[in-house]
Amino acid sequence: MATVYLGLGSNIGDTEKNLREAVEALAKRGAIASVSSLYRTEPVGFVNQPWFLNQVICLETKLSPEDLLKATQQIENNLGRERTIHWGPRTIDIDILLYDNLVMATPNLTIPHSWLSERRFVLEPLAEIAPTLKHPILEKTLTELLQELKNDKAVVILKERHSD
Ligand code: ATP
Ligand code: CA
Ligand code: CA
Repeated sequence: MATVYLGLGSNIGDTEKNLREAVEALAKRGAIASVSSLYRTEPVGFVNQPWFLNQVICLETKLSPEDLLKATQQIENNLGRERTIHWGPRTIDIDILLYDNLVMATPNLTIPHSWLSERRFVLEPLAEIAPTLKHPILEKTLTELLQELKNDKAVVILKERHSD
């Protein structure tokens, strides 16, 4: 069983519903161990687009990294993801952020996710649910990486995580 952290993002349509449906679909591929709050975040890269809703979840799964990527891409397609502008608007994006302590890079899959330590919209929710977890390459905790981040893009909690 692997412990995996996934980053979800949506900025088209009913973004809250898109995230909820993605989490429901991911729950069928393992067991959801924890979910972060929902964060409203300012777009990065291609900036002329609506703000995103972002969330990070922890999934316990038996899927290999490759099969997990296939599963996440299938869920993206089922929820109506269309690939147009790189870093552009999307109904749902699911990125594999961390997979146990695995470090790998193939043409299709880089783990840990390449931009993890430079994106506030990923680090804020990730550090919320895994503050003391260490990045396997940078060997710093997610809280440390968040503290070191120099990035003025806005990230605002929209909905606090349920305390159940
Ligand atoms: P970014 O990767 O910078 O967040 P993006 O999410 O918009 O950009 P996509 O179009 O969703 O990029 O994905 C492009 C490709 O990234 C996918 O086809 C996939 O093969 C590859 N990829 C590499 N590493 C990962 C990863 N850790 N998680 C998800 N996709 C990955
Ligand atoms: Ca992404
Ligand atoms: Ca992606």
